[in-house]
Amino acid sequence: MGGGVERIPVMRPWLGDEEAEAAADAVRSGWVAQGPRVAAFERAFAAHVEVPAAVAVSSCTTALHLALINAGVGPGDEVVVPSLSFVATANAVRYVGARPVFADVELATGNLTAATVEPVLTAATRAVILVDQGGIPADLDGMRALVDRRGIVVVEDAACAAGSTYKGRPVGAGAVYATFSFHPRKLLTTGEGGMVTVARAEAAPRLRRLREHGMSVSAADRDAADRAGGAPVVETYDELGFNHRMTDIQAAVGLVQLGKLPAMVARRRELAARYRELLADLPGLVTPADPGYGTTNHQAFWVLLPADFPMSRDDLLGALAREGVSARRGIMAAHLEPVYADVEHVPLPVTERLTRDSLILPLFHDLTEHQQDRVVAALRAAAGARTAAVR
Ligand SMILES: *Cc1c(COP(=O)(O)O)cnc(C)c1O
Repeated sequence: MGGGVERIPVMRPWLGDEEAEAAADAVRSGWVAQGPRVAAFERAFAAHVEVPAAVAVSSCTTALHLALINAGVGPGDEVVVPSLSFVATANAVRYVGARPVFADVELATGNLTAATVEPVLTAATRAVILVDQGGIPADLDGMRALVDRRGIVVVEDAACAAGSTYKGRPVGAGAVYATFSFHPRKLLTTGEGGMVTVARAEAAPRLRRLREHGMSVSAADRDAADRAGGAPVVETYDELGFNHRMTDIQAAVGLVQLGKLPAMVARRRELAARYRELLADLPGLVTPADPGYGTTNHQAFWVLLPADFPMSRDDLLGALAREGVSARRGIMAAHLEPVYADVEHVPLPVTERLTRDSLILPLFHDLTEHQQDRVVAALRAAAGARTAAVR
């Protein structure tokens, strides 16, 4: 990196004094574990997704874990997942003792489709985890039309997709289960955190017990009963549970962040449109865009390099780094990692092309147009294209 040139990170969460104050209020209240702020965050998030209930958990990974348990997925079952996803998608399948089965994705969205999933369905398939990769909505109705009649449940891994829309409604609104991540790599953040949303309110109580050690009565409800002065409520433990809880400190931050989500999405869409415009004349470069049926929050802005690009993706990452631009390789492919090397799979040519030849460019709320110009200039220089001087 050139001397004195400011480094542009690939992402940075948009956090301010309001979040700091909300967290401080939770600390001052004396109730810092799961309590009233988690309950309030759940209600607000359920309203945002337009579903009857939401259950807050410690991460999207634990959200997937609980959704699969509640869907009845276990040993001997197969669960179809995209290999092209963060490794947590496949890992959750193994947590419940089931087998991940990798299916390919379509090039335009990086997502599973009915056409890529149908060839890998077997009598043992119990679920499909449909990922909205990088925030681009997957075609949920198309997938459900294929699998609902076979008794296969679709769990929507909307880790990246809070603020994206599908057929005019928030992503997750039409899903039996949708799971969200509040890790700082996504838009809305609570440091770590996640949410399961459910289409039927009846699914929520068991999810709430599973996240809290399988306890029949939550600690918050026992406290409320104590305060009401009635007989102490004694809990029972009726099945194996987990500690997958979110804290009230995290939920306090989440409530503020949820209010800022529309502004976050608007800013990212504006910056992404500007990237597309500035890169439009580079031959063969593919950039993410809205599919016909929905809108993306642009959680990640990746570019897919054409086969005749003058350098490899990894050399390009190096060239950008020398210009002070932190880009990242594209979405990983789980089947290429040692932990999944033993899983047999169908050919995954689109997955392999996307993971090998794409990179993620800096995109975050506070990215300035000047910084964006620097990213574009570095990329254009590497491509051998002429560019207007920007610094
Ligand atoms: C980030 C991510 C996860 C994991 O989310 P955590 O909250 O970090 O557990 C799962 N699936 C996908 C598609 C992701 O991008």
